[in-house]
Amino acid sequence: MIPRTLFSPDHEAFRDTVRRFIAEHVTPFHAEWEKEGQVPRSLWLKAGELGLLCCNVPEEFGGLGGDFLHSAILIEEMARAGATGPTFYLHSDIVAPYILDFGTEEQKRHWLPRMASGEVVVGLGMSEPSGGSDVQNIRTQAIADGDDYVINGQKVFITNGHSADLLVLACKTDPKQRAKGVSLILVETNRTGFTRGRKLEKMGCKAQDTSELFFADLRVPRTNLLGSEGGGFGILMTQLAQERLVQAIRGVSSAEAALEWTREYVADRKMFGQTLADFQNTRFTLADLHAQVLSQRVFVDRCIELHLRGELDAVDAAACKLVTTDLQFKVMDQCLQFFGGWGYMWEYPIARAFADARMCRIGGGTAEVMKQIIANSLLPKVRRDS
Ligand SMILES: Cc1cc2nc3c(=O)[nH]c(=O)nc-3n(C[C@H](O)[C@H](O)[C@H](O)COP(=O)(O)OP(=O)(O)OC[C@H]3O[C@@H](n4cnc5c(N)ncnc54)[C@H](O)[C@@H]3O)c2cc1C
Repeated sequence: MIPRTLFSPDHEAFRDTVRRFIAEHVTPFHAEWEKEGQVPRSLWLKAGELGLLCCNVPEEFGGLGGDFLHSAILIEEMARAGATGPTFYLHSDIVAPYILDFGTEEQKRHWLPRMASGEVVVGLGMSEPSGGSDVQNIRTQAIADGDDYVINGQKVFITNGHSADLLVLACKTDPKQRAKGVSLILVETNRTGFTRGRKLEKMGCKAQDTSELFFADLRVPRTNLLGSEGGGFGILMTQLAQERLVQAIRGVSSAEAALEWTREYVADRKMFGQTLADFQNTRFTLADLHAQVLSQRVFVDRCIELHLRGELDAVDAAACKLVTTDLQFKVMDQCLQFFGGWGYMWEYPIARAFADARMCRIGGGTAEVMKQIIANSLLPKVRRDS
């Protein structure tokens, strides 16, 4: 294997803590959480106690004060364990940066320490029944009324939708505008006018609570605005590189894990007087997948390195998300085949990983949207009048 050079001994010590946490507090209970469609708050509190939430939020706001490598380690280890229920990456690496980078001092002091301890779980409300890819065209409105915004609308597919105490909600503050009409508003879920709909039944990621959310004349003070009015789309844009990188790290790490499970299985499984590992088909398929995953691991690590220096752009991150999530699904599909009928049984991690992986080409920006972004940078559209 090509050695990884990103992590210091301190980071590796942190990795040990994460692995112990997963072995003791996550893996033994994950199947139960899948039946419940949710992970318990006690897990969030335990993660908070061990400093595993909001790892790269500064200590003055209650975080660990680490860097993105701490986040990467947690994302990698959770992905390797197939632990898709606890959505720490969404809480810590997608939503917390919005508040850290664009929140007022008061918003940061109020929310970040509670998020780091697990007392507050957050969700990100962008997608609506009318569409998730076209965020500029959302219909949920937040109309200013005196010192308040009055929010009306509906969101769908919201991760942590059932458990969230706080939402970063994309709303139109000026419905006549597209991107410039979008604002992000912090919405506490104990406010009158907020209702949670069904916990949606999904084909994978079953321990995540994914919900519909409804807002009917819900009032929040205008001080709950995150950043500037009409600046929401711009804020979302600033975090795209990290969000796509998070998905790429998940993709390549879970593909690596699936290859390990499969290597062990084929070496053990006996048939026709030999093992499954002895067939040339098995050897060539696994060699091919290994080579592809290895090359993507190097690509992802290089993107992490660039991101640590603030130099990863959203287009390269889109390319990284596109290829890693495509390969993730291919690896799950081809590895599952080696398990035969067992691969189709939910009790086998490869079956879960196959179902979980399907989501990764949809969530966090679909594969087609990633291609559109890459194509626009390769072939900018020019106006041709003649
Ligand atoms: C398990 C799960 C968890 C999720 N969690 C969240 C969450 O926490 N918060 C949140 O806001 N959303 C969440 N989502 C929603 C997710 O972000 C959307 O599903 C995704 O953005 C796609 O939106 P859509 O489902 O409305 O599909 P649509 O936008 O309707 O897309 C339908 C199809 O059209 C294609 N398409 C779109 N644009 C183009 C284009 N320009 N060119 C060519 N084809 C195109 C898409 O690629 C797709 O194949 C989650 C989704 C799932 C499945």
